[in-house]
Parts: sequence; structure tokens; C-alpha cells
Amino acid sequence: MKKLVVLLGALISGVVSGSQIELEKVYLHGAHEQAAQRGPQIEEARLVFYFNQKPKVQVVEKKVAKKQWSSVVVTVPNLGRASGELKTALEKIQQRTTDQYVLKVNQHKNGDMEITVTFDLRKINVAVDEFTSIGTKPGLSITLYHQPTIDGLKNAQQSILQVAHHAPTLVIDCGHGGKDTGAVGTHGAVEKDIALRVGKKLAQVAEKKGYPVTMARSDDSFLELDQRTSCAHNGASCVFISIHANHAQDAKAQGIETFYFERALFKPVFQTGGAWSADIMSDNLGVLSKQCADEIHKHLLSAAHSYYPQAVDRTVKKACSQVLMGAFVPAVLVELGFLSHPVEESYLINDTYLDIIVAGIMSGIDSFVKGSNRG
Ligand SMILES: [Zn+2]
Repeated sequence: MKKLVVLLGALISGVVSGSQIELEKVYLHGAHEQAAQRGPQIEEARLVFYFNQKPKVQVVEKKVAKKQWSSVVVTVPNLGRASGELKTALEKIQQRTTDQYVLKVNQHKNGDMEITVTFDLRKINVAVDEFTSIGTKPGLSITLYHQPTIDGLKNAQQSILQVAHHAPTLVIDCGHGGKDTGAVGTHGAVEKDIALRVGKKLAQVAEKKGYPVTMARSDDSFLELDQRTSCAHNGASCVFISIHANHAQDAKAQGIETFYFERALFKPVFQTGGAWSADIMSDNLGVLSKQCADEIHKHLLSAAHSYYPQAVDRTVKKACSQVLMGAFVPAVLVELGFLSHPVEESYLINDTYLDIIVAGIMSGIDSFVKGSNRG
């Protein structure tokens, strides 16, 4: 009997470990222009894959024929074949070829997916990391670091990634849009509309203060998360803010919370030589993002309290939020309140309240920018 149990156990575990993994989402973050046309940036590109379960990823570095070039091959075994939107997303990756790197994705008949990054050793370092997203999905990130930018910052002994300009460009990302409504409130308020309204107000206030503004979307259009960050790759001269409203099953859940991303949330799997120093630089970006989140949150909350004293402080939190992972500048995501909470929903459609919290966000950005310039 015991033998049978053991045998059965082995059979079951065999089935489990052999079960197919599904690819759920693919993102390719990074600027599309060639390097010469834009400012310094530490990360050239980031490829992110989400799966329904954690895959056993293998990574090897391979020599290539081209002198001074190398390649990193990431194999994800036992993967269901991608079709539809995912297939298109994978094809998009192959089209991103620059003078510094070439990306390739192969889906083999045996179920293995092979992602190959072939790159100029003098320019690029590659890091492969695993992480768990804010929605608890297992993710895989492949980051291409730009080593000359990192060396330049080091040699100049610049306090790395300071917001160098008195008025950096403010990239405003109004959450959701188009077919993606985001959360819908108890009385019908729609997150994508609130995000757009707040974003437009913020753009107006920021422009009056002399900040150049870029809007990821300025109407009700749908954007993928990697499209939203494509304008946030200009090194230190940019601040990225993503605007959202929350939703929870529990109608009592309420309050304001602010998110940022730092590399320490990643679990390193593989890195080429210089990627370690790139990590340190990236972590500095994490530090800046935290400062930015702290300032925005503090000012936003105190502004909210002036009109809505019961506003709950849900604090500043770090998370692997996809839109933050792809912005290679100080980046913050604000959740302005809960649409599932009837009182907060009524505030979030109240024009006076929105003006007040927008002023709060603006003074937070101001305070962050001034603080960075002082340092
Ligand atoms: Zn949202």
C-alpha cells in the first residue's frame, strides 16, 4: 500500500511539474529613438513577461561572430504557444533593433521560448530578474543597461540622477482609458474619467509654474502600459506621475496611497559584467522615486485634509507596478481614493476637491524638485 502511495505521489508531482506554463502579458519599455537623439539614460530597454505560474528560467551567455558583441539567451521552458495579442507583442520585440542591441524571440516546437539579446559589449549590460507583481503574478524582467551613461555619471561624480533642471519635464499618465475603464464606483463614477480630469488639471497648474508637460494620453484613448512610459526615458530631466483611483471589495476601504518602484524588489537571476554597477545606479533611481513619492504623498494628503479631514493615510508603498517599472526616471503612482467607498466617490467627482488635491500634488512635485536641486 505504501509503495502505491509513493508511486502515486511521484505520478502527481510529475504531472504538476510538467504542467504547461502560460504567458499572460508582454511589455517592452524603452525609448524608440537612437541613442544620439536623447538625453542620458541608465536603462535602454526593459522587457517584461508575466506568467500564470513561476517558470524555471535558464540563462546563458554566448559568444557571437561579431567582434565586441555578445549574446544572452534566456530560455523559458514548457510554455504554451502564444497567439493573438501576445503573438503580436512578441513580434513587436523583434522589431526593436538599434545600433547597440538586437532582440529576438523564438517559440520552439518543444514548448521552449527563447529570448535572445545580442548586444554591443562596450555599450550594453544585461540583467535578468524575477519578481512578483502588485497583482501577485510571477514576472520576468530583462533589463538592458547603458554602460557609457553610467560610467559618465560616475566619472563626473555627479550626485547621480539628480533632477538636473529647475523645471524637469512632467510626464503625466492618466490611468486607464478607452476600452479600459479602470474601477467603477458605487454611483457610477469611472476611474479613467477621473484620472483624465485630474491629469488635465495638473498639466494646467504645472505649465503655469513653468514645467514642460507631456501627457501619456490627453483624451479617452487606450494605451498599453509600455506605451505610457515611452516618453519617460529622458534620464534625470523628467518626473513621471501616474494617476489612479482605487477599488476594493470591502466598501469600507478608503484613503490615499502612493507607490514607487525600486530595483531591490527584483530577485536577480543573471547579470553580465557591468550590470552590477548599473544596479547601484538603478537603486539611486529608486531612492529618488521614494523621495518623490514621499513629497507628493505628504502634500497631497495635507491638501486633501483641508477639505476632507477624514481622508485616511494609506502611506507610501513600494511595488512592482508595471508602469513604474518601465519609467526610467523618478516615477510615482497615486491612488487618490476609493470609488468603492461612497463618500470618497462623491469627493472624487467634486471639482473643488479635485482642484485642491491637484494643488497638493503640484506642491509635492515642487518640493521634490527643489530638494533634488539643493542636494
Ligand atoms: Zn487604476
